[in-house]
Amino acid sequence: QRRKDHPRNRLRVPKKHIMASGKTTLQRRSGEILKMAWEAVIGLEVHVQLATNSKIFSGASNEYGAPANENTCEIDLGLPGALPVLNEKAVEMAVRFGCAISAEINEISIFDRKNYFYPDLPKGYQISQFENPIVGRGSIAIEDEAGARKIIGITRAHLEEDAGKSVHDLVEGRTAVDLNRTGTPLLEIVSEPDIRSAQEASEYFRQIHALATFIGICDGNLAEGSMRCDANVSVRQRGETSLGERTEIKNINSFKFVERAIELEIERQIDVLEDGGKIVRETRLFDPDKDETRSMRSKELSDDYRYFPDPDLLPLILSQEEIEKIRSELPELPQQRERKYQSKFGLSSYDSKQLSVDRNKSDFFEELTEASRLPKLSANWVNSNLSSLLNDKGLGFDRSPISPSLLAEVLIRIDNGTISSTSGKTLFRAFCETPPKISEIDDRIDEMGLRQIGGTDGLKDIVLEILKEHPNQLAELIDGKQKVLGFLVGQVMKKTNGAANPKEVNEIIQGEIKKG
Ligand code: ADP
Ligand code: MG
Repeated sequence: QRRKDHPRNRLRVPKKHIMASGKTTLQRRSGEILKMAWEAVIGLEVHVQLATNSKIFSGASNEYGAPANENTCEIDLGLPGALPVLNEKAVEMAVRFGCAISAEINEISIFDRKNYFYPDLPKGYQISQFENPIVGRGSIAIEDEAGARKIIGITRAHLEEDAGKSVHDLVEGRTAVDLNRTGTPLLEIVSEPDIRSAQEASEYFRQIHALATFIGICDGNLAEGSMRCDANVSVRQRGETSLGERTEIKNINSFKFVERAIELEIERQIDVLEDGGKIVRETRLFDPDKDETRSMRSKELSDDYRYFPDPDLLPLILSQEEIEKIRSELPELPQQRERKYQSKFGLSSYDSKQLSVDRNKSDFFEELTEASRLPKLSANWVNSNLSSLLNDKGLGFDRSPISPSLLAEVLIRIDNGTISSTSGKTLFRAFCETPPKISEIDDRIDEMGLRQIGGTDGLKDIVLEILKEHPNQLAELIDGKQKVLGFLVGQVMKKTNGAANPKEVNEIIQGEIKKG
């Protein structure tokens, strides 16, 4: 019976349209229509590395980049008799995240052993939380493709330790093991299958990244693997309410890759189903170089792990007071700042979002605006000139070579016409190299010859000179050809090395023409 409902049978391509290539124009077009008959269903498991000083169950350093196996102790190595001790900071961070997404915080949670064998897991089990996680149901708001607010349900977030790393390309013909990562505290955030497209998934991942870095529980360094996600993907026919069989794409560590991996997987699954095949529950790997996902292993079910409570660790008990204390210390969150920038400063939603994904950037912007009282100009500068400068230098906003208060002085002078915006950029670059004292700013402007020639007879003389030098263009302008106005203004700017105020030049020229 189902065959009749199969979308391909609804859109059968007549034989005569099939060409040598096997593809027909009709088929390509119907391919698009067929895709619209399907809906993707996605749930993400995001692993956030908690920025604690030491490991989750040991005192070994949690710092990234140490020589192999340096950051380990008997607990990480799984030596007999070594007992785990829970890191209070990791617990605090998990609760902070739970509060930030208004989730239920469980007063009692349990650590379980997830048993499996792998060379980078010396104990033979990973300590995780299974039936009683520390954080229960919550939600995260994202913007969907149409720009509308959409709520993604959070099923749970649990604490666990990371495993070590197998290194396959270090020793010829052998695999090396680096246990530095063993015992790194992770918060695994599991979403409901509420995500409906690759783009939404990437947006959701970005939101978690913004949130986790904002509340200071993660350094957010994707390249170092500080945040990774597994994407669970299934497809179903539109209108269907039950879930289709899913696959899980493991270990994705970039916003772009999560989007691409899911896109490819959705297409692959639709192709399999269209061809009358079945999706098998499996773990897949995304290969960005080959631009494909491929099967890694058939998915193990939770039964395979023989979860049981770790007898070495007591249940974790939190009091309401402890939870409320952490809640009360939460900073303003990215989405709150985003809304504030729109309502208080009148910034566009795009600018507001750009300014609030990064805590350091957001703080810089707030200090700059506080000092300059010019929110829009400040937003533009932070999002463009300053962002690209820091990007080039590979620096974060916490290490900007120009302070918010000094940049504010530059912006104030652009705004009041002391310098043109072109000169503002020159001054900005110079100040980044050698920052002056606030009292020296105006001298520096004069030394560099950046003070704007404006409103004076000096500027008018230059304009008249330019007009005299370009009689043809002047005639065209008098004839009403507004296009040459830009050219003439440009000539004045050139002559004054950008020091003239283009608006004033414009006004002077218009005035001269009116005079005739
Ligand atoms: P597992 O034990 O395999 O990790 P879970 O039930 O914990 O499975 O789910 C893991 C993730 O998979 C969750 O984010 C969930 O939303 C998502 N998920 C579950 N079923 C589906 C499905 N049919 N399609 C897409 N995602 C799904
Ligand atoms: Mg899972």
